[in-house]
Amino acid sequence: MTRKTYKIAAIGGDGIGVEVVDACLVVLDVLADRDGGFALNVTNFDWSTDRYKRTGEFMPADGADQLRSFDAILFGAVGAPDVPDHLTLWGLRLAICQPLDQYANVRPTRVLPGIQSPLRHVNAGELDWVIVRENSEGEYAGQGGRSHPGLPLEVATDVSIFTRAGIERIMRFAFKLAQSRPRKLLTVVTKSNAQRHGMVLWDQIAAEVAQDFTDVTWDKMLVDAMTVRMTMKPASLDTIVATNLHADILSDLAAALSGSIGVAPTANLNPERDTPSMFEPIHGSAFDITGKGVANPVATFWTAAMMLEHLGETPAAERLMQAVEAVTADPALHTPDLGGNATTRMVTDAVVESLRGRN
Ligand code: ATP
Ligand code: MG
Repeated sequence: MTRKTYKIAAIGGDGIGVEVVDACLVVLDVLADRDGGFALNVTNFDWSTDRYKRTGEFMPADGADQLRSFDAILFGAVGAPDVPDHLTLWGLRLAICQPLDQYANVRPTRVLPGIQSPLRHVNAGELDWVIVRENSEGEYAGQGGRSHPGLPLEVATDVSIFTRAGIERIMRFAFKLAQSRPRKLLTVVTKSNAQRHGMVLWDQIAAEVAQDFTDVTWDKMLVDAMTVRMTMKPASLDTIVATNLHADILSDLAAALSGSIGVAPTANLNPERDTPSMFEPIHGSAFDITGKGVANPVATFWTAAMMLEHLGETPAAERLMQAVEAVTADPALHTPDLGGNATTRMVTDAVVESLRGRN
């Protein structure tokens, strides 16, 4: 059997981002070794807020281009308490996602074994959603501006951009994903009662695209009502598609409902595979726990499983998730965000042991 080698760019970033990516690389090494079917050629990049403080740039001007030759990007988190969040977001994350056209942000949510959802009526295995977030335009298009600084007539505008092409491609992606899942259910989220241009176009295009997916059952929800449905009737949902802003908010709620933001993964996909996709935990750099060795690495492990799946290494992805679930099932291996006393190292070692124990 030929041993495939994948080129992986690892960008730990800031705070616990570095800690969880380091832990993840340990696990990936063992997995590749164990599996034998593939190898990973990892290049580490120091792109971060630290680099910005030293050089004035989060990454080199041609950073996104440097990433083009990789098969996938593993990303930690970016941000530091003393640098404004909008600088870090636009300086690194979006500076990668946008040029590489990673327009589909996919965020699975599931209550893993051994983890307690804050929703008392939800058990492990239930609450099985995938949120698809439009990742290239909408409210985060970066359009708008400020004028008359400091004067009473100071104005600031944030202009949302919705294009037919942008909506259609994310809608098609979401319907296809819904179709591939057992329940074939899709909920299209908007705020089309109040936002009467872009959001109405979303509803319209959803209905158009639905014609090509007659086996998918779909419905529409307003984003405010959606938060209620997610908490009160979680089992009624499966695949969800929403705009950049709405899905950003809903997926934080989803992460919390699955037990902790420390277990929630995400993939920034270029579904056509013209450019590499980027895989990261949902959580940020979390400076309150940085350096304490207690960051939960589970989100990043799950993220790595999504990466392997995307690379076509499905058996390895499944093996990794089995190992992760075997570990979450044991409360002695829960980090403090899950109410336990375990460390990043303990969780990582346990996943490695579980992987080694298999076969
Ligand atoms: P950002 O500004 O990028 O969102 P942040 O520092 O605000 O980053 P969040 O990801 O929003 O961090 O997380 C909020 C809090 O949740 C953190 O301050 C931390 O206490 C906790 N947290 C986040 N991720 C983890 C993790 N992997 N393990 C344990 N606790 C976490
Ligand atoms: Mg935060």
